[in-house]
Amino acid sequence: MAMMPALERDLNNMSEYYESGKTKDASWRESQLKGLRSFIMEKQDHIMNALMQDLGKHQLEAFRDEIGTLIKTLNLALKSLKDWMSGKKAKLPQIALLTSAEIVPEPLGLVLIISSWNFPFGLSLEPLIGAVAAGNVAVLKPSELSPACSSLLASGIATYLDNNAIKVVQGGPEETQQLLQQRWDKIFFTGSARVGRIVMSAAVKHLTPVTLELGGKCPAVVDSLSSSWDIGTTVKRIIVGKFGTCAGQACISIDYVLVEKGYCSKLVELMKVWIKKMYGDNPQRSKTIARIVNKHHFSRLKSLLDDKMVKQSVVYGGSMDEENLFIEPTILVNPPLEAAIMSEEIFGPLLPIITVEKIEESIKFINCRPKPLAIYAFTKNQTLQRRMISETSSGSVTFNDAILQYAADSLPFGGVGESGFGMYHGKFSFDTFSHQKAVVRRSFLTDFWYRYPPWTLNKLQL
Ligand code: NAD
Repeated sequence: MAMMPALERDLNNMSEYYESGKTKDASWRESQLKGLRSFIMEKQDHIMNALMQDLGKHQLEAFRDEIGTLIKTLNLALKSLKDWMSGKKAKLPQIALLTSAEIVPEPLGLVLIISSWNFPFGLSLEPLIGAVAAGNVAVLKPSELSPACSSLLASGIATYLDNNAIKVVQGGPEETQQLLQQRWDKIFFTGSARVGRIVMSAAVKHLTPVTLELGGKCPAVVDSLSSSWDIGTTVKRIIVGKFGTCAGQACISIDYVLVEKGYCSKLVELMKVWIKKMYGDNPQRSKTIARIVNKHHFSRLKSLLDDKMVKQSVVYGGSMDEENLFIEPTILVNPPLEAAIMSEEIFGPLLPIITVEKIEESIKFINCRPKPLAIYAFTKNQTLQRRMISETSSGSVTFNDAILQYAADSLPFGGVGESGFGMYHGKFSFDTFSHQKAVVRRSFLTDFWYRYPPWTLNKLQL
């Protein structure tokens, strides 16, 4: 798709296509969802190769986080489409005699989806599934930082989907800015809070509703667990929730760990053992851990360790190979809280562990910072669990595991405060791209004289 003025012409054509009503048909929506499923299933190897090329992502991670998750979502959407599309009866007060009401979802129209590079297929196609299921026409703008994946998305969508209604625009900030100047009926954005602000300012012009899927620092609170099984499982889940999810380059990766002072060394020792078991003595040689996306992000991560005090807090790892964009799984204990590593989202395989006197203090620690996209808490203590839910605010809270919430279609996925707003996944994606229209049907059979003027006091007394 070419840019302005060709862009404007293409968008006009898409709007006309939408106005024709074609995309509202259940059969059209179904055919597009099936097309997407064929793309993913038939091009599985290409998808894996592109993810390896752009991010060094292992095939297993590619399947777990993108291919498998997308097929599951598509199957759910296809199975549920008719139900999602149908109007839902709404209750009315008894006084509304012989009146019925329902809530009817209707598509929004022309929507823009801007996505990020770390899960290039998932973060582009999960929202697209919602947009298409809801009957919209859509433009997808994937990230320029994962070029092999973006170009595969562009060719796949051109081949498998109806191009009158669904198009891909490739490019970076400049192309995105051009897109943002257009009139949209909805903008769905995944990325940083910095660009989220640019998106929101652009949306103001046409009062366009936006969903912002942003990031932040997701903490993992580790309580002192008494059984060796529980702590062993915790350690394995933390390692996968950090290093085993695109090398920590995920919005819901564990950013840092909070643990009681007296329990820290046990946790660190076990983490060292399990990192070795999972990634071997030379993790760089193992194909299991993803690479940093590019030199810019590599330098950004390197500079997080530049501070002398931060460097001194490294207790494991720390080696880096710029040419191969590799950073070893690295653990730090108590880096200064005012250092960038503790004030900015890390988005890489560096894991600070911060000690507190009592684990309950972690609630205050979390509340002193922007609301995270996810909080993880490894604890069997029911009181602590209840307090985590009621006394902190975040997009999600997961106990005794990490990342799991992303895969659950029945849960809304989204942030709060600085981690964004709006939600998607499963039926929530359909709702995000729909307007819920209130429909009321009144009968002519009953009527009441007192509801019509002239207003008199005896009418008020009735
Ligand atoms: P980013 O904000 O730099 O880029 C996101 C998109 O915006 C890309 O498509 C990019 O081309 C475009 N863009 C970049 N600069 C722009 C500009 N100046 N004007 C207009 N458009 C611009 O973010 P990123 O590097 O792709 O992703 C990292 C961030 O995204 C992290 O903060 C991470 O936590 C967050 N993220 C959130 C989720 C989520 O689901 N909540 C998922 C992945 C990433």
